[in-house]
Amino acid sequence: MGLFDRHAGLLDAYRDVRTTGYDPFQIRMERVLSPTKAIINGRETLLVGTNNYFGLTFDRSCMDAAIEAIEAEGTGTTGSRIANGSYTEHVALEREIAEFYGKKHCMVFTTGYQANLGVISTLAGPDDFLLIDADSHASIYDACKMTQAEVVRFKHNDPSSLEARLRRLGDKPGNRVVVLEGIYSMLGDRAPLGDFVNVCKKYGAYVLIDEAHSLGALGDHGRGLCEVAGVIDDCHFIVGTFSKTLGAIGGYCVSDDPDFDILRVTVRAYMFTASLPPSIVASVRQALRVVKARPELRTQLWDNVATLYDGLKAQGFTLGPEHGPVVGVHLPDRMTAIGFWRAMLDAGIYVNVAVPPATPNGVSLLRCSLCAVHTKEQLDHMVEVMTGIGRQFGVLPDKQLRAAG
Ligand code: PMP
Repeated sequence: MGLFDRHAGLLDAYRDVRTTGYDPFQIRMERVLSPTKAIINGRETLLVGTNNYFGLTFDRSCMDAAIEAIEAEGTGTTGSRIANGSYTEHVALEREIAEFYGKKHCMVFTTGYQANLGVISTLAGPDDFLLIDADSHASIYDACKMTQAEVVRFKHNDPSSLEARLRRLGDKPGNRVVVLEGIYSMLGDRAPLGDFVNVCKKYGAYVLIDEAHSLGALGDHGRGLCEVAGVIDDCHFIVGTFSKTLGAIGGYCVSDDPDFDILRVTVRAYMFTASLPPSIVASVRQALRVVKARPELRTQLWDNVATLYDGLKAQGFTLGPEHGPVVGVHLPDRMTAIGFWRAMLDAGIYVNVAVPPATPNGVSLLRCSLCAVHTKEQLDHMVEVMTGIGRQFGVLPDKQLRAAG
């Protein structure tokens, strides 16, 4: 048996994907021009799939902070915090994120993936229970593979399903740790967080929420879904990433637990990997200042949500349930999704294509993510282009039929 024989199904699917002429998983950004534009296949392309919610990757103040940090402290730390020590700025960043949430403690990680992997796999031990939403991100599923706790899945966004699972555990000893996400990354739907928190309180369960896609985007101060739901104090652990709204890379976890810092010597994804370089720490600290100082970026983002989401809905597309910065456009099957994605790219618009097995319930999607600095004209144009392709692919009824109907 060949080493890759067990991937035969995936290899077939991947071959299908490549018959369209482009491989959506090997796209080359030949040159990135701004948060919303890049050269792809030799042409200027509108980016509507990069999670760059505030457009801070090219923010002058964040770039200057990164450049100054390189001049002052070099390009990298060349080791982990436990081996090479923490730089003053790592500690300052942790303090600032903790303050942002009004929590006592914060740990930063080299990626958001590692924050989830490390914290979730370590929080729940051999006699504990880790309860996760069925549509959890890959980093949460991977944490489940590493944990010694018993893993229990509940139905996506269904507090009564969680309650049934907790009830069934009865009075078995062991902690219960419930893992949720603020905005789910594929369809952009949100956890009914208040209801989940009530269930967790009733059963004495700890709550961990991953706010990767909601930092900056949700809440009057950009603190995410936990701010909107008024449950920051009830979320024992809030995890997030620097790679989306904050425009860089890295992850964090905040908590009020007095013993939280023990994770610094127990979480392997923190202990055995190099820490964030000075340039990233500096740009993230500046990006957090921008999030606090410029709430108009959130307003602009939501104006853009209204243009794209409402525009596509009005044309008859089937969208994810939530009006928000991640817009999932349902398509009937994998090949239609890939063909549609390619037609969009040929028309100069880049979005993500998400197909089984990477999607919940085997759905095929175009996944769009909005940016505060998209212009209304860009998004109106996108709706027009998608409508044309939608008719061409038979996803939308054609114009005459619509008029007749
Ligand atoms: N959690 C969620 C919900 C995500 O969508 C992602 C990234 N797509 C991550 C965690 C991992 O974050 P990062 O890419 O910053 O490692």
